[in-house]
Amino acid sequence: RIVAPQSASPNEDSVERALRPRALSEYIGQHRVREQLEIFIAAAKNRGEALDHVLLFGPPGLGKTTLAHIVANEMGVHLRQTSGPVLERPGDLAALLTNLEKNDVLFIDEIHRLSPVVEEILYPALEDFQIDILIGEGPAARSVKIDLQPFTLVGATTRAGMLTNPLRDRFGIVSRLEFYNAEDLTHIVKRSAHLLNAETTPDGAAEIARRARGTPRIANRLLRRVRDYAEVKADGRIDVAVASAALAMLEVDPQGLDLMDRKLLEAIIHKFDGGPVGVDSLAAAIGEERDTIEDVIEPFLIQHGYLQRTPRGRMATQATWRHLGLTPPKPAGA
Ligand code: ADP
Repeated sequence: RIVAPQSASPNEDSVERALRPRALSEYIGQHRVREQLEIFIAAAKNRGEALDHVLLFGPPGLGKTTLAHIVANEMGVHLRQTSGPVLERPGDLAALLTNLEKNDVLFIDEIHRLSPVVEEILYPALEDFQIDILIGEGPAARSVKIDLQPFTLVGATTRAGMLTNPLRDRFGIVSRLEFYNAEDLTHIVKRSAHLLNAETTPDGAAEIARRARGTPRIANRLLRRVRDYAEVKADGRIDVAVASAALAMLEVDPQGLDLMDRKLLEAIIHKFDGGPVGVDSLAAAIGEERDTIEDVIEPFLIQHGYLQRTPRGRMATQATWRHLGLTPPKPAGA
């Protein structure tokens, strides 16, 4: 899927890293989050303390990992990176924690997927910079307290609602990342084009931004594919005509919806009479994972009025019917 917000290959990962802003001043958009972090980071640095633990939540590709790296850069400390599902045993986390240096950043992606036993270790670590580990087995086993260096946990999750309360309560800073507006995304496309040595006209960059589902990772990916198209089918310059033609080839429609979005909306209308339909039935109908629907596909569609989430399930809206070139049914009672 061209606009899948997850990165697709190691090669793409390296391009993504190259495009990553390194300082807060280069981080475009998300003004509220940036302003808050600016203040909290400056204050922590002044006191020579670790920054309070930070929880970042929002759909994939909006810049959570980027922000974690920026926090470490701005604090002038190291960053250690891991993710919830990778930390299988308490020992995995204990090893990471005991290797942290003073005020370092530990970044845990997909923190809602930590196993309960690993999460247990984390509580005293976050609160008192201490862990309890069990040495030995059976009746001879004893628990040993180990002091840690003060550190900052940056946790990222697509869904804050899936975090346990005790874990959520231990974050002093909780920031929600929003989809980017067209202006900020255009700025991101221009910056990336510059770094990739791609020539774009202002309206060419704006066209890519407008169709990128409010997501920097998708904007960067579309930019690279449009650049390929411009080099092969035109003179390399990305203007609005080249961008539109390339995006049409990639089956990204003028509103920025892609094949998967349309497949989901069409299923609701054609297979479930416009809904309401439960997310599991919908997942089965389109052959996608429930999590992918909830984390990746749905948030943008809901925000833009193409999908409604009701207690009885997902429903198409008038805008959905019109977007697919269909006539919406008359509202009941009309
Ligand atoms: P997440 O961790 O939320 O999935 P990432 O931090 O990996 O997202 O961001 C994906 C890509 O989008 C990064 O490579 C980065 O280049 C770009 N990006 C994200 N946020 C911004 C931003 N505010 N300004 C510029 N580029 C950004």
